[in-house]
Amino acid sequence: MPSFVIDEKCDGCKGGDKTACMYICPNDLMVLDANAMKAYNQEPDACWECYSCVKICPQGAIEIRGYSDFVPLGGSVVPMRSSDSIMWTIKFRNGTLKRFKFPIRTTAEGAANAYEDARGKDLDSELLFNEEAEGYTLVTP
Ligand code: SF4
Ligand code: SF4
Repeated sequence: MPSFVIDEKCDGCKGGDKTACMYICPNDLMVLDANAMKAYNQEPDACWECYSCVKICPQGAIEIRGYSDFVPLGGSVVPMRSSDSIMWTIKFRNGTLKRFKFPIRTTAEGAANAYEDARGKDLDSELLFNEEAEGYTLVTP
């Protein structure tokens, strides 16, 4: 199931040029109804449930319902970010709650350099980035 916006919680990111969910969606699915000041997923079929919009929404207004073939109906998975960690709250349909907290990357936005550790590496190599470092060797027939 794709993301969906809970109207009662969404405040349209207070009317900014671009809402947080529009900014983050890698598939440009989220749009804002400027009259209602509510966002919505304009093409649910194209949503791959990456949770990016769920995590960034400052109002906690976006949820994703899992497909019923592998997530029992009535369950939910809700992330809550802080500055250095993310807490996932898993609710089972029998009411059981489980929470998992993980540290998150704290690199400042725009400061990440994906190639910083790649100096001296052959970026055209078919080996995985750390394949040699882990001691694997490529076996060719
Ligand atoms: S990020 Fe959240 S509050 Fe902002 S427009 Fe999207 S759903 Fe609404
Ligand atoms: S879950 Fe991911 S792909 Fe789907 S609307 Fe949100 S950000 Fe876009």
